[in-house]
Amino acid sequence: MNSPFRGNVGWVEVICGSMFSGKSEELIRRLRRAQIARQRVQIFKPRMDDRYDIDHIVSHSELRIKSQLVSNSQEVWEAVEARTEVIGIDEVQFLDEEIVVVCDKLANMGKRVIVAGLDKDYMGRPFEPVPQLLATAEYITKTLAICVRCGNPANYTQRLIDSDQRIVVGAEGAYEARCRRCFEVPGQVVEKMAGRP
Ligand code: ADP
Ligand code: ZN
Repeated sequence: MNSPFRGNVGWVEVICGSMFSGKSEELIRRLRRAQIARQRVQIFKPRMDDRYDIDHIVSHSELRIKSQLVSNSQEVWEAVEARTEVIGIDEVQFLDEEIVVVCDKLANMGKRVIVAGLDKDYMGRPFEPVPQLLATAEYITKTLAICVRCGNPANYTQRLIDSDQRIVVGAEGAYEARCRRCFEVPGQVVEKMAGRP
């Protein structure tokens, strides 16, 4: 994104949606372009998400980009170097709520901050701190997956294993993308009125 701002002003971009919707792909695409433009880029991912690789962000389609592990928002703040122009964070829902303030401060310092994360948890509830980031961001991209049941656009992440922990880092087969009609809230029997408003 070219800066519409005059002077040394930064901004926050959020990429959000369900699992498998292409958030990491889109984040990697934007960061790669910044690197091609020879901007100074720093990329972070939460330590909790060590599913595929500890020092790369890896998309489900196997795109990858080098990243640095952080345990919390304070570590992001401390790791950002003064000359860095673009900051990327994947799986931002695994960081604490202070990340909202950290992103804001970095943008105020003139940096472009791009974060990607789940906007809803396994129950379909807003997943902090993503809703707060959506409120403070200048730019928002919502990505949709394909519902594995019916092929419609999917906005929900269906957990396939039995757990009521909010965070269960996705092993193979633990989650799938579902549309609003096919998504089932765990532990809740819902009468779906197909075809009705
Ligand atoms: P996210 O970061 O949102 O989990 P990724 O960027 O890691 O998504 O992966 C997106 C890729 O996942 C797609 O390009 C596609 O190759 C793959 N994929 C697997 N299942 C689905 C699905 N149900 N809908 C869309 N893409 C899927
Ligand atoms: Zn569906």
